[in-house]
Amino acid sequence: MVVEKILASLEKSNCVTDNTFLQAVSEVLTSLEPIVKTDSRYEQFAILERLVTPDRIIQFKVQWLDDNNQVHINNGYRIQFNNSLGPYKGGLRFHPSVSTGVLKFLAFEQIFKNSLTGLPIGGAKGGSDFDPKGKSDYEIMRFCRAFMRELYPYIGARVDVPAGDIGVGAKEIGYLFGEYKRITHNYDGVLSGKPYAFGGSLMRPQATGYGVVYFAREMLAQELQESLEGKICTVSGAGNVAIHTIEKLQQLGALVVTCSDSEGSIYDPRGIDLSLVRELKEEGRHLSLEKYVERIPGSLYTKKSDYPQNGHAVWQVPCFAAFPCATQNELSFLDAQKLVENGCVSVVEGANMPTTPDAIELLQREGVLFSPGKASNAGGVAVSEFEMSQNASMEKWDFDKVDRKLDELMRQIYKRIALTAKEYGVERNFVDGANIAAFKRVAEAMILEGV
Ligand code: NDP
Repeated sequence: MVVEKILASLEKSNCVTDNTFLQAVSEVLTSLEPIVKTDSRYEQFAILERLVTPDRIIQFKVQWLDDNNQVHINNGYRIQFNNSLGPYKGGLRFHPSVSTGVLKFLAFEQIFKNSLTGLPIGGAKGGSDFDPKGKSDYEIMRFCRAFMRELYPYIGARVDVPAGDIGVGAKEIGYLFGEYKRITHNYDGVLSGKPYAFGGSLMRPQATGYGVVYFAREMLAQELQESLEGKICTVSGAGNVAIHTIEKLQQLGALVVTCSDSEGSIYDPRGIDLSLVRELKEEGRHLSLEKYVERIPGSLYTKKSDYPQNGHAVWQVPCFAAFPCATQNELSFLDAQKLVENGCVSVVEGANMPTTPDAIELLQREGVLFSPGKASNAGGVAVSEFEMSQNASMEKWDFDKVDRKLDELMRQIYKRIALTAKEYGVERNFVDGANIAAFKRVAEAMILEGV
């Protein structure tokens, strides 16, 4: 069987401890199994084999000085996976867990996500095992400059356009852009997620979270004739994606009762106080969510170490809709069981691959509407592409225009994957719908460009 053959050969060639790449490839290829036989060109042009092999993996040493003039060394990476649809595009992640394995998974997923947007962008991802937590602003700036000194030869507005991800927000993108400009003397749209002052798009910070909610709103309306108004929702994470998911849910009248970070989680039955979460977490502040309960009587903090074994405190809370927005593999089989038991009707991923494969299977079996991140969190990369368009034409679009385009694009993604799932006899399986719809667009481009 073709899928098994590819997975076996990948397993052999990937002597990495992190298996998220294999997990992502396995999910995609399993979805594609029924359609690869429908077009002989896929085999003739070795599309699957080429699709699971990155175009190039760039790895470099990042040397920087801390505030005491101590030298530090981190690994830097950029994985340019596939540029059949357009310039490589995907975020940079600064987190101690970053490795080639994690970045290969993220870059691979990015190909499909970018394809689903219908926009001309290929798939890439990069980052470093640098931990921004506990670092001063100057240390972060020196690190970003050192990182860009190594990365700049490989990127460009028509080549590869990195953006933010975990640990990389507008501040870091600003430092990276400044260094790129100093070295190359080029003031072009080489990075997205830039501060508005020098070429950033309005709404880029909000885009991923708002897009997640626009997608959920459309899916619930079309599939269940339901709305989010007055419904209890649970969200994990307390970073960019989580904060803007909560913000939009609240604007639509939902009651969001949870959020979390890498140390613990908050349950606030009266609704999360977003301004307080922002005070603790935004602009590089990494204050513990434990401080939330000191300020909000009636709220509850659960330390990660006290979570039920292999479960996550956020997913124990009864809800109508769940939004995992922190990181990969944070919603396990046990969590899915709890969500089903509590009557949750939909799980919409804001993070990349936060739900484990066995949890997805259970949710789908039990009729819970499940949307994979590559579909529901594609609003971030879409607005990044809008930023590239604005930079190229030297235009500035207003907030409402970007917001309208984002809303429309998320509806289109829902429609595309729902129709594809129906067409291939797997109605309401949005994982298969997303993988097949995304694959067909990329595969066609790969065939047309030749080998
Ligand atoms: P941020 O760095 O802004 O926030 C990440 C959040 O997740 C923080 O609350 C962090 O906690 C928590 N977290 C990080 N690692 C872990 C871990 N190992 N265990 C538990 N919690 C963890 O990142 P983003 O919000 O930008 O990204 C969140 C997810 O969304 C990621 O999967 C990312 O790839 C995905 N994504 C992001 C996009 C964007 O536009 N930013 C676009 C599309 C997808 P703490 O505060 O303790 O660090």
